[in-house]
Amino acid sequence: MTYIKASLRRLVIARAGGCCEYCLLGEEDNFLPFAIDHIRPEKHGGPTEEQNLCLSCYDCNSYKSSDVGSFDPLTDEFTFFYNPRKHTWSEHFRVDNGVIEPLTAEARVTVLIFRINLPEHVDERLGLIKIGRYPCQKNQQS
Ligand SMILES: [Zn+2]
Repeated sequence: MTYIKASLRRLVIARAGGCCEYCLLGEEDNFLPFAIDHIRPEKHGGPTEEQNLCLSCYDCNSYKSSDVGSFDPLTDEFTFFYNPRKHTWSEHFRVDNGVIEPLTAEARVTVLIFRINLPEHVDERLGLIKIGRYPCQKNQQS
């Protein structure tokens, strides 16, 4: 794991508003600390700079690991993951009753590999929706 200087970490966290940029969970609503994710992993030449970093919850970051994409379950074509620096969340996903539904190939491989709709994640989202804390609202924490 590369050292990320404090000013860059602060920028990534502030830009994300304390929200996971993949599943829109709020850091304050998660038991585990969030990670600064290299969108293109260092293993694959991804630099430690603003445009290659995003804020990720522990689960999204863990399941993503050093992967860059997967095979779209609909077309079997290799597809890169959703990229929070290049894509707009609402154009790729929508939330229906706690389930994050993919709207594009990038979203399908992301939901699949990040295991975004595990039953415990859906239950957690439903609980947070009930109390108005999901999806995470940028800079509206606590
Ligand atoms: Zn997440």
